[in-house]
Amino acid sequence: MDYCYFDNNATTKIDEKVLETMLPYLKEHYGNASSIQHKFGRQSSHAIEKARIQVAGSLNANPKEIFFTSGSTEAINTVIKGVSKTYKSKGNHIITSSSEHKAVINACESVEKEGMTTTYLPVNKFGLIDLEELKNEINDKTVLVSIMAANNETGVLQPIEEIAKICQEKDVLFFCDATQWYGKLPLDVQKIPIDILCVSAHKIHGPKGVGALYIRRKSKPIQIPALIVGGKQEGGFRGGTYAVHQIAGLGEAAAQIEFDQTLEDLRNYFEKILLETIEEVEIKTQSANRLPNTSNIHFKHVKGSELMTKLPNIAVSSGSACVSGDRDPSHVLKAMGYSDDEAFCSLRFSFSKYNSKEEIDYAIGQITSAVDQIRKNSPIWEMYKEGLI
Ligand code: PLP
Repeated sequence: MDYCYFDNNATTKIDEKVLETMLPYLKEHYGNASSIQHKFGRQSSHAIEKARIQVAGSLNANPKEIFFTSGSTEAINTVIKGVSKTYKSKGNHIITSSSEHKAVINACESVEKEGMTTTYLPVNKFGLIDLEELKNEINDKTVLVSIMAANNETGVLQPIEEIAKICQEKDVLFFCDATQWYGKLPLDVQKIPIDILCVSAHKIHGPKGVGALYIRRKSKPIQIPALIVGGKQEGGFRGGTYAVHQIAGLGEAAAQIEFDQTLEDLRNYFEKILLETIEEVEIKTQSANRLPNTSNIHFKHVKGSELMTKLPNIAVSSGSACVSGDRDPSHVLKAMGYSDDEAFCSLRFSFSKYNSKEEIDYAIGQITSAVDQIRKNSPIWEMYKEGLI
């Protein structure tokens, strides 16, 4: 075993079929998708429209409701900044949660400088918002509710169907960051009245730097202005020459989405063996509804960053990839009520279809000896075992 990649919530390995789909658009089919006067342009334009149909199909949406972006961060900025601008005359209030991805939190902070106010709903120890609290916080100035479908650090699933229904009843736009949910669990916009949602290709074995926004077509159209202005791409909604290979890759990755029990079985196998093998280990949010591939593990009195240095052949994460350079403890775990120490002593394992039981057996062996080694040299662990702390 050379290496185990268990950091699939950060990004995923590209699917071979996706890569094969992309390559011709980097080689022979290099036309600009807007140059539809000639064959090269039309080939590219067809690839874009095919991808739009594939992404729409994966969400049970209408292709006219799909807009390509450079990924979820751009989509989130487009929605939060755009809605704040267009709906200013209605109100200046956004509701989100304290455990959102930093893209949402920072976009909200950015519009707060322009006069918006944000309510950050707290989450409980399972990472869930309280639906009654959501209802109570919506007022006549609320223009947007932005709640993620699945948390990137813990895998916890918010009750998006109920949230969408509350927003629908109260006539407030509901934007769902579905970046982590997408590709791991089914998502059907005909069944759940989400108004806007975003997805990202690199979380589903597609390329980095491309994603999509779903914006529901409604009798009262949702109005979001372009964040990036330029040419008339995406009907003027998102300027810039189409990255045809990326978009074709997203389309193919969307078409490749499959749900089966194997991923969850693998994750459960990992958790079972880990609990049986290492003492004082806690699986965070084990009893909550969560993604089938994610395990957030607390190793008592073992710093996640130290454990990672002792696992050179295993890729895991000590938080969200985007903030793991931070020295601060995870804002998600803190929001769930964990102490700094508990947050620092946690690692996220996130699996994909490319992982195997053999990798897990190997990894458990490596983790067990690394934890033993750290605890053996730890005065805090010694004191803990002696009952002094
Ligand atoms: N939202 C969530 C929940 C994520 O996990 C991520 C990626 O880590 C993003 C947004 C940002 O996605 P992207 O990398 O496509 O900008």
